Amino acid sequence: MVEVRVRFPPSPTGYLHIGGARTALINWLFARKHQGKLILRIEDTDTERSTQESIDGILDGLRWLELDWDEGPYFQTDFADDHVRAAQQLLNDNHAYRCFCTKEELDRKRELAMANKQTVGYDGTCRNLSPAEVAEKEAAGLPSVIRFKVPRRPGTLAYTDQVLGTIERAYSEIEDFVIVRSNGKPLYLLCNVVDDIRDRISHVIRGQDHMTNTTRQLLLYEALGAPVPVFAHMPLTLDLQKRKISKRSHGEIVAVQFYRERGFIPWALCNFLCLLGWNPGTEQEFFSREELIEVFSLERISKVNSVFNFKPGDQKFFTDPKLIAINEHYLRTMDLSDLGELVEERLLADGIWDPAYLDQRREWYLATLDLIRDRFHTLDDFTTLGRAYFADDYSVEAKPLKKNILKHPDLVTWMPQLSQRLAALSSFDQANVEQAARDLADELEIKPGILINGMRTVLTGQLAGPSMFAITDTLGRDKVVARLSDISHLYPSN
Ligand code: GLU
Repeated sequence: MVEVRVRFPPSPTGYLHIGGARTALINWLFARKHQGKLILRIEDTDTERSTQESIDGILDGLRWLELDWDEGPYFQTDFADDHVRAAQQLLNDNHAYRCFCTKEELDRKRELAMANKQTVGYDGTCRNLSPAEVAEKEAAGLPSVIRFKVPRRPGTLAYTDQVLGTIERAYSEIEDFVIVRSNGKPLYLLCNVVDDIRDRISHVIRGQDHMTNTTRQLLLYEALGAPVPVFAHMPLTLDLQKRKISKRSHGEIVAVQFYRERGFIPWALCNFLCLLGWNPGTEQEFFSREELIEVFSLERISKVNSVFNFKPGDQKFFTDPKLIAINEHYLRTMDLSDLGELVEERLLADGIWDPAYLDQRREWYLATLDLIRDRFHTLDDFTTLGRAYFADDYSVEAKPLKKNILKHPDLVTWMPQLSQRLAALSSFDQANVEQAARDLADELEIKPGILINGMRTVLTGQLAGPSMFAITDTLGRDKVVARLSDISHLYPSN
């Protein structure tokens, strides 16, 4: 059996975006499923647009998603000699020719063809120049590109796409395409094939936007006498308006980094991305890494484009509800110590907690995460909505403030009373705290809920949360007593 060797070859001209990450993920899954190899190749031949920052960002993004590769990163520019040699071989073997047509001439012909409603494509002017004519033009110093000589055969060029089935294109529709620019630089179409041949790529899995390249590249394989890999084209990822997702038109909302910063769990993003264009054939939505590797197959990649339902500008629900739901699922069910590490990074980055303190109270820390994670959507929520559990400088949201504290102005005296009672309890356990609150409510002849909801607002800044007495338990007596002892700062000063 042929060894499975797939590749992820990003062009480092921007950040790693959702579409790129999905391509990387699908290739990774396929490699892992078949105990194959994933090769990472940075296609940096466009030196004007490639940047180190982009390379770093792509590698960083892949590492964060835990999509590990087996070879590379290789850099396409390191293999420039191979590309030039291949172009020369194609020239020598009469599979390519020098074309001296100027841009002006080509533009003029194109316009003319368009006006006459004829097919627009290179007309083959230089295809049949004799060696003597070529030598003459070169001697005269005329610039030239190298074009591939598409075989003028009848019929169609056909191949079997693993996702889409048989794909055919008439030879007559394929123009003689440029493989080397006039400055001597080989183009992507050629470099990509030369590298795939050298890297012994068995399967090329990429977006449907590359299908026109595939047809032309098949001809290059044939002309270079190399075995042709299996091709699988994935659907495009579109936005709600059915536009192709791109860095250029959508900005950072499609960047992997954006999701990382906003507290998405790497595997939740992978799980979501896989389902964006791949169908398990069952109702199952959550897959562990191992499960996904097990059930993944190219045949279940969808033929139609997929929609990434995001809403730029909406701060809270800016992304696909399905991604949020998947993230919540992992947040609530993932191994606590793994969650602990992810949240720890954020607490530290936010300067909320000093490591010495965190390390000493690991058990408490994990139990607290477990208590509060049920209502959270992203890791971000631990430092925002959950800030009061880890720091004293949390703020009280306007809604609970109005609903509890301001609605019951007497809480300004009731809370300190409760604080004193809690300070005096022989044991600060949940039952005692609850009893103390209920007793005070009885004495004040108010509903216990008024005190209890007020407590939640003061202690956590939030309206909703875990059971009030689980909260007092996790915060501990000192913090609870201190926070309830004076709440006058919560009232607007007049
Ligand atoms: N560098 C190309 C891109 O980023 C690679 C395409 C391919 O997979 O061959 O689109």
